[in-house]
Parts: sequence; C-alpha cells; structure tokens
Amino acid sequence: MTKKDILIVGAGISGLLAADKLQKAGFTVQIVDKGRGVGGRMATRRIGPGRADHGAQFFTVRSPIFKEYVDQWVADGSVFQWASGWSHDPNTPAKQDGYPRYAGKNGMTAVSKALAPRFDIQLTCKLTQIEQKGDGWMAISENGDVFESSNLLLTPPVPQSLALLDSGKVSLTETDRSALEKIAYSPCVAGMFWVDGKVNLPEPGALQRPDHTFTWIANNQRKGISPDAQLVTVHANEAKSWEIWDAPQEEKIEALLAGLRPLLDSDATIKEAQAHRWRYAQPKVLHPERTLLASNLPPLAFAGDAFQEARVEGAALSGLAAADALIKE
Ligand SMILES: Cc1cc2nc3c(=O)[nH]c(=O)nc-3n(C[C@H](O)[C@H](O)[C@H](O)COP(=O)(O)OP(=O)(O)OC[C@H]3O[C@@H](n4cnc5c(N)ncnc54)[C@H](O)[C@@H]3O)c2cc1C
Repeated sequence: MTKKDILIVGAGISGLLAADKLQKAGFTVQIVDKGRGVGGRMATRRIGPGRADHGAQFFTVRSPIFKEYVDQWVADGSVFQWASGWSHDPNTPAKQDGYPRYAGKNGMTAVSKALAPRFDIQLTCKLTQIEQKGDGWMAISENGDVFESSNLLLTPPVPQSLALLDSGKVSLTETDRSALEKIAYSPCVAGMFWVDGKVNLPEPGALQRPDHTFTWIANNQRKGISPDAQLVTVHANEAKSWEIWDAPQEEKIEALLAGLRPLLDSDATIKEAQAHRWRYAQPKVLHPERTLLASNLPPLAFAGDAFQEARVEGAALSGLAAADALIKE
C-alpha cells in the first residue's frame, strides 16, 4: 500500500470532515474504519422492512462553521429538519424552542454516506496496533493490512485510541497521556422494536426525558426514515445501561421493553426486537480544547466528540480543528 500523507482512523463525522478539509488542502488521505459502513455512532440499522437510528438521533447546529455544512446537506437532500423541540412528557406537546433538530434522510448515516465517495476508505478494517516508524506512522489491522503515513489522526473514543498506541509502544508525554486519560464516557444500551399497533408518543414522534431511566423513545416511522415498518428506538440511561450490560440479550430486550410498554396500546405486539451496547456513547468528562496535538512525536492529532464539545456538532468541529492543526504542522 502506498504511503499517504495522512492516515485517519474512524469514518465517523469527525474523521470524514477532517478528511474533507485535508484533502481540499492538497494532502493524500487514507481513512480506515472497523465498521461495515461509515458513520460511526451516527448509526442506522435495518430490521425487517424498516430502519431505526440506534446511535445519534438528531443533531443541532449552533456554530456558523457547522451551519455552512448543514445548509449544504439540507440543500442536497441528505438532511432534513425533524423538529424544533421535544416533549418531556407523553401527554404534553413538544416545547418549540427555536433550535432546529436535524436528522438524516433514511437514517443518520445519510450524511456520512453522502461524504464517503470522495475518500479512499477501507471498511471492516479493525486496527490492532499503531507504531512510530521513522518520522511517520505504521498501523496494522487484525487482517494483517499495513498502512503507512506521515501524519496520523485518531478519532475513535479516546480509550480505544490509547489502546492502539499502547499496543505499538508509542510513548506519549506524561502531560498528553494524563490529559487524554481524564476523558470519560457513559455507556448506553439501545433497543429497537418493530411494533404492530399504536405507540402513544407526542408530536413529532419522540419523547426526551434526561432524568428518566429511559431517556429517549422515538418512532422512526414518524421520523420519516422507516415508511414500511414502525420501528421504535429506546435508550436506557447510564445506571440502567450498566445494570443490564452483561445480561443475556433477551433480558436486555425485556428491560428496554419495560420502558416502551406504558406507551403501547394494550393490543400492540412486538414483531421483532434487538438491543445494541454502546460502551462509549457520549462523553461525560471532556478535554478543554477541540483537538490535542501530541508533543515529541511525528504529527499525531486526537479528535472526536470528547474534545471541548459533545454530540455530533462537537465531533464535527473537533475533526475540522484537528485538520487545521495538522495542516499547520
Ligand atoms: C446512543 C447514542 C445516542 C446519541 N444521541 C445523540 C444525539 O441525539 N445528538 C447528537 O448530536 N449526538 C448524539 N450522540 C453522540 C454522537 O453520535 C457522537 O457525538 C458522534 O457521532 C461522534 O462522532 P465521532 O466521529 O467523534 O466518533 P464515532 O462516530 O464514534 O467515530 C469513530 C469511528 O472510529 C472507528 N474505530 C474505532 N476503533 C477503531 C479501530 N481499532 N480500527 C478502525 N476503526 C475504529 C469506529 O468504528 C467509528 O466509526 C449519541 C451517541 C449514542 C451512542
């Protein structure tokens, strides 16, 4: 494989937007991701004839930089405005707060799918080790693929990035390591249910309850991404997610169904159900800057939603900041 200027680990939103900026600046870029598709935690799954978003559910836009990208995605049809506020109670209509909530057409992966064709991306490629090679980097996958580059951008959740560097005996400075080790994430167990019958969710088909055991319940059919089947997504909070983390799959599904049941009509039935564990769902301790450029090593940047700002927008802005930092180097 030819040596590229930049190897980006992760084809989530931070890796893809960084790639876009770096490629436009004239660098050759290789992206690798362990997933079967692009998008990372902006994930959509098929069940029967339907689709369900089981990671990120929507995103907001606050910064003018991210807005420029989102306006373009809305214009090209990969993104639409789903709501401008959520209800926190099944019997109360959503409060409109003026902030648009966007979602991907046919699912949250839409944005990444629209960006991906511009790049050289190797999917189903799980890296197991990254080592320093001369004044650059060498990454090795579990299938034995080898990638060499002058610069490296790591966008997986930070504990996973650190594990890759540790396998290759890369020594970060004490200061960099201790800053990165402070970052922490909460988990989320997500359920996806194919429901036949009425699901009583307020407009526009979702319930957001930050202080409840089941923080989020949404109807993907009413969202508009699953016209042929009513698939409902349920997210458990951190405490519930840990409680059921190691339980057999059927028990996880039962536990998540307990959150959905009060919203179902008595004659509604479940045709199929799945559960998914996100170990690094959302950051709860963030690094204060948008990126971290490692000291005393060949160019190496860390990016993702744990850098200064969480969620999709934070990840996007972090990827762009990391690209700027590498261009400067
Ligand atoms: C359940 C859940 C609900 C959420 N809800 C919302 C929401 O409603 N709104 C919102 O804005 N945000 C939400 N988020 C957060 C949002 O999804 C993330 O902030 C954002 O998608 C992170 O993007 P990223 O590029 O930083 O990381 P990721 O999307 O995680 O991308 C990192 C990529 O690295 C890859 N990778 C990891 N290790 C390796 C390896 N060894 N080799 C190769 N590739 C590797 C992964 O496969 C992944 O694709 C939610 C997340 C979850 C899990």
